[in-house]
Amino acid sequence: MNKIAIAIHGGAGTILKSRMTAELEKEYGRALENALQVGWQIIQSGGNSLDAVETSVCELENNPLFNAGRGSVFTHDGKNEMDASIMDGKTHNAGAVALIQNVKNPIKLARLVMEKTEHFLLAGDGANEFAREMKIESVEDEYFFTDFRYRQLIEAQKENRVQLDHSEKGERRKEKGEDRNPKSKIQNPKSKIQNPIGTVGAVACDSSGNLAAATSTGGMTNKKFGRIGDTPIVGAGTYADNNTCAVSCTGHGEFFMLAAAAYDVAARMKYKSVSLIEAANETIEHLRLIGGEGGLIAVDNLGNLALPFNSEGMYRAFITSDSKMSIEIYR
Ligand code: ASP
Repeated sequence: MNKIAIAIHGGAGTILKSRMTAELEKEYGRALENALQVGWQIIQSGGNSLDAVETSVCELENNPLFNAGRGSVFTHDGKNEMDASIMDGKTHNAGAVALIQNVKNPIKLARLVMEKTEHFLLAGDGANEFAREMKIESVEDEYFFTDFRYRQLIEAQKENRVQLDHSEKGERRKEKGEDRNPKSKIQNPKSKIQNPIGTVGAVACDSSGNLAAATSTGGMTNKKFGRIGDTPIVGAGTYADNNTCAVSCTGHGEFFMLAAAAYDVAARMKYKSVSLIEAANETIEHLRLIGGEGGLIAVDNLGNLALPFNSEGMYRAFITSDSKMSIEIYR
């Protein structure tokens, strides 16, 4: 029986201990632990890696602490447009959605694209129509509203910039009290959250040695014109191949696309015959050199893990047949 392993992330970026409260740190820890455990239970009881990564990502999407599903950031127009992808390392089948709205769990829709269509990526109106046809659970706009995310948008709009969710600028600034959005009057349980952060992802190796990867995001605050990042792009934000590894990325999407980052880890293993850890570190170093801030999680078919990042921190957690659960945030 193959060694099993699962790793998850909740985004990488400027995550400084000096700016974190003990209470919030605990909240992140609990959120990561819950998401890790639901996936782990699946592979530990003989289930497959695909179900494990989907289930872990769903759990993270349901938690407003993260920039995916419920906690997704706002676009320039005050909407929540989400991207997600999933890949099966055994069949090399993949499914992805981009710019979808009002879908509770984008990763479930990505899996339906993989299993029910002959396509890899559906975007915008077509993807929303597909969601309706699949009768996937949908939620009202209010479900995605958080005061913190809306303040992020107002600040980004004032400075006319597109903001990576986990970038330093504006991330943890004090509210300036200029919120003119009528939606901010809505009573919402997420309003207590001070600094939600991060795209989410999971990778797993099950007892048959099958690998899978899944990634989900709300993208970047104040994004315009239908911007799509690396998350729904197979080979950039997500990749899985039983012969090499499964990878889920987080960071400045444009650079991860430029580097074909998720596939780059697999390609380095395949063409250079280096270990997972070497390959993953090289990819992250390459990203640093071209200016791409972020990180990734990866697993190979022996259940080895790599979780490198070139930013201040990355929300991450993992567990393997050989190692106890580990939850980490900082460098
Ligand atoms: N990679 C995501 C994007 O560019 C953002 C992130 O990972 O936080 O859309």
